[in-house]
Amino acid sequence: MLTPPFVLHRPTSVEEACAVAADLTAQGRPFDWVAGGTDLLPNYKWHLNPKGDVISLAHVDGADALAANRVGCMTRLHDVATSEVVHPLLAAAAAKVASSLIRRSATVGGNLCLDTRCFWYNQSEDWRRSIEWCHKADCGTGADCRVIPNQNTLCVATYQGDMAAAFMALGAEVELVGPDGERRMPLEDFFELDGMKKNVLQPGEFLLAVYLPDDAASRVGAYHKLRVRETWDFPEAGIAASWIPGDATSLRVASTGLESIPGLHMDVAEAHSDWTNTEGRKRLSKALQKAIKPVNNTALPPRYRRSMVSVLASRALRAITEEG
Ligand SMILES: Cc1cc2nc3c(=O)[nH]c(=O)nc-3n(C[C@H](O)[C@H](O)[C@H](O)COP(=O)(O)OP(=O)(O)OC[C@H]3O[C@@H](n4cnc5c(N)ncnc54)[C@H](O)[C@@H]3O)c2cc1C
Ligand code: SF4
Repeated sequence: MLTPPFVLHRPTSVEEACAVAADLTAQGRPFDWVAGGTDLLPNYKWHLNPKGDVISLAHVDGADALAANRVGCMTRLHDVATSEVVHPLLAAAAAKVASSLIRRSATVGGNLCLDTRCFWYNQSEDWRRSIEWCHKADCGTGADCRVIPNQNTLCVATYQGDMAAAFMALGAEVELVGPDGERRMPLEDFFELDGMKKNVLQPGEFLLAVYLPDDAASRVGAYHKLRVRETWDFPEAGIAASWIPGDATSLRVASTGLESIPGLHMDVAEAHSDWTNTEGRKRLSKALQKAIKPVNNTALPPRYRRSMVSVLASRALRAITEEG
């Protein structure tokens, strides 16, 4: 499998990155951003929607800055996992991503903007040709989705990044920049249901940093993950929870690895303010399981992943109650 050729652009500032993006967009040249390349480059090797131009964020000045309330997009997951300044929940989630080797290149921005995954899609080109493609990489055929058949308008590939749930549980916001300026929004508003569009980024825009609110430092959190091999696999389900000890209504619970977007479940948390006792935790965990509907496109069957939601949620809630 040979990586298809592409032109690599290496801007050194945010302004230059936006200018290169605007220029390529004006010329009608599709491009991708690349950070650590641990997901994009394997996908290119597999000829999964490669582009002729790639803009690297690796040399953008200050993009890897790491502080307690601001995490730059180029911050390596290894640095988050081993940092003494970031919230322990972020460090715990980062330590569970892939393998130690991958975490040395993988970044926070790349993790949040991770391409969605599906076992009909993350395959070699020959394999995909043999099933006559699918909607997400249809090679101009107009092929249908294989998971929700008889339609080629929606992709339900699964978002399997670990960091999003942990950031959402802490109330994070993201800063996006592009040729039209910058904007900021809660992380839960960043993601878009369609597994091809994935998020709200507009052409030329990229995710510059993640911000944490002041109260994040007072929160106690936990992240529990289901995966096939503990050493490096993507989440088949992931639940993060955090609260400000003593205030049951401050609970935030988020999920990942289960649907085409990670989810923040404020409605479920708010409906179970008695979650600090064992029975309340059980009820909340079951309600969460009911609210999440995985489809059949990752390694483990959706029924099993769904049933594990309540197990992971119970563990996370118990951990934060005991620690708080
Ligand atoms: C064997 C293996 C196991 C893995 N296991 C896990 C796992 O357990 N959990 C997990 O979460 N991930 C896992 N991954 C996926 C990946 O390694 C990580 O998610 C990683 O954090 C991606 O970061 P990156 O910097 O390498 O992203 P890249 O590969 O550089 O980019 C990923 C995507 O994000 C886009 N992008 C990157 N940065 C930005 C930005 N700042 N703004 C806008 N778009 C951007 C790129 O265009 C691309 O589409 C695994 C990968 C491999 C190969
Ligand atoms: S969900 Fe459907 S369109 Fe998306 S990658 Fe899977 S088979 Fe393809």
